[in-house]
Parts: sequence; structure tokens; C-alpha cells
Amino acid sequence: MTATLVAEDVRRTYGDTVALDGVSLSVDAGEVFALVGPNGAGKTTLVRALTGTTDAEGPVAVFGADPREVDRERIGLLPQAFDPPARLTARELLTYYAGLYDDSRDVDAVLADVGLTGAADTWYENLSGGQRRRTCVGAALVNDPDLLFLDEPTTGIDPAGRRSLWDLLESLAAGGATIFLTTHDMAEAHRLADRVGLLADGRLVAVDEPDALVAEYGGESRLVVETDADPAALDLPYPAERSGDSLVVSDVPPEAIGDVVDALDAAGASYDALSWSEPDLEDVYLRLAGGGGDEYDYRGIDRATATPAEGER
Ligand code: ADP
Repeated sequence: MTATLVAEDVRRTYGDTVALDGVSLSVDAGEVFALVGPNGAGKTTLVRALTGTTDAEGPVAVFGADPREVDRERIGLLPQAFDPPARLTARELLTYYAGLYDDSRDVDAVLADVGLTGAADTWYENLSGGQRRRTCVGAALVNDPDLLFLDEPTTGIDPAGRRSLWDLLESLAAGGATIFLTTHDMAEAHRLADRVGLLADGRLVAVDEPDALVAEYGGESRLVVETDADPAALDLPYPAERSGDSLVVSDVPPEAIGDVVDALDAAGASYDALSWSEPDLEDVYLRLAGGGGDEYDYRGIDRATATPAEGER
């Protein structure tokens, strides 16, 4: 299969700032790829490099061609900062953008897709934050693109609007569109993406299917028990440590939670709430991109294969 999007060792600096430090990736036709990473990691710069809207070193190919030479009817782009004229209605804005293409979708159908039928005649400046963002997503859809770049599409959208946008993006992907999105929302990345790429300091430090990333880097399950019990006084076959007012027991399978309760009872320890959680993509993010207590040194990861280098596990 020919990849829709290929980047090889892409670099971009702004003065002394290295925004992209050698990013290579390939996204197949029909794939949903989510790029995650902290603020300043280089996500927007990578979207700009992939869409040919910034000068970067290293070849980028979209549909096998230089992104600047690709038929723009085939690409949709929602930039992170998109500030359309305030005194146009949602319908007028989409009609304007639809007019830029030879072959565009019916504007009312796009308004319905992004849940704006009822607000179609409201000036952009009078729409809520979520409605504005949905108008902008609609503007990226008017040309029925084969490849859609969405830079933080759901930022500022309320949970219900976010879920309906997820449904829309899933239906676009099911219809064969290739989607490249950036997000700070790990639930969004996990739900939508076939593969997730984690960018940190301009480098792609891990790329894989969401479940594979969680299995590889997410760490263990955690049982948090509100108790003042001393882990040394408990006969527990699992690693346990104190964290604030709680005891955190790692790697307890759900069927063994009763054993931990029995150990607390046997030690005469009182306890209140118990909560058990599995690792998720947020744990992966915190571990690889920093911000978590148990920080993983992603510099030990072989970026070519996005797997930890020998001796670094
Ligand atoms: P992200 O989208 O992950 O927040 P960006 O791609 O916006 O990251 O930025 C990556 C780095 O490049 C940051 O240090 C940012 O300050 C810098 N940068 C991005 N665009 C410019 C620009 N036009 N001029 C100067 N520095 C920039």
C-alpha cells in the first residue's frame, strides 16, 4: 500500500530553538494518526511541515508528492489558531470556504455533520467556544478531503460536542479518509487513533497502536486504599508503598483485590475507599513526556524503531 503521508528526518529550527529534531513517520491511506505531546513539543510545526506551510529540512511526501504541489481539493486543514471574520454567520463562513473549491460539499450537510444546523445563522462572534471550533472543523470538511489535518480539533468543545465530533471523525475514517490529528486529550487519541505518536522536544519518541503503547510503557495496575496501614506490617505479595493518606499497591489483578483486603483485616488495619485502575494512555504520556513522578528517560529509546534501546528498560 502506498503511504498517504511520509516524512523522513524532518527538521525545523527557529533561531536557536529546535522545533523538530529529525522526525520520520509514515501514515497509510485510511489511517487515523494522533500526535500527542506537551506544549512546545513541535506538534504544530510538524503539521505545518507536513502541509507545506513552513519550510522544513527533510523530505515530506503527501500522496507521493511535495505537499505544496498536491491538489488542495484533496486536503483539509484545521489549524490550531484559526480566526475567521467575526461578523459572518456559520453558514456564510462555510459557504465562503466551499467557494474556494471547484467541487465542494453541500454546506447545510456539513453544518449538520458538525451539529450546527440550529446555529447556522448566528454570527461567528456570537457562537459559543465549542460552536466556533465546530464551525472551523466544518470549514476543513467542505471540500470532502481525502486527507484531513486537525490541530487540536476538540479544544474548547464540551464533552457532548466532543463525542459527536469523535463520531463524525470515525465516520469519515470509515469512509476512507486519512486523518492526522493533534490532541492533548488522551481519551480522544485512544478512541480515534489507529496509531499514536508521542512527540517530545521535537522528537517522535514512541509510535504504536494505543493498546500496544499502554502495554509497553503504561506500567502496572494500581490499587489505591485509603488507610494509614504501614506496608511493612502487611503480608502482601504485591509491591506497596505509601502515598499521602493512601497505600498504593501495584500490579494487583482485579480478582486478587480481596486478598489485599484480607491482609489489611489480618493486620487489624482500618481502611476506607479502595479504587483500582489500569494504566492508560495518559500514564504512557506522563512517563515518556514527563510530568509524572516515575519519569521515563525517553532519550534511551531508539527512535528509529520507537522501542526502548538495549539496556534502557
Ligand atoms: P506545539 O504545537 O507542540 O505546542 P510548536 O510546534 O508550536 O509546539 O512549537 C515548537 C517550538 O517551536 C516551541 O519552542 C515554539 O516556541 C517554537 N516555535 C514554533 N513556531 C515558531 C515561530 N514561528 N517562531 C519562533 N519559534 C517558534
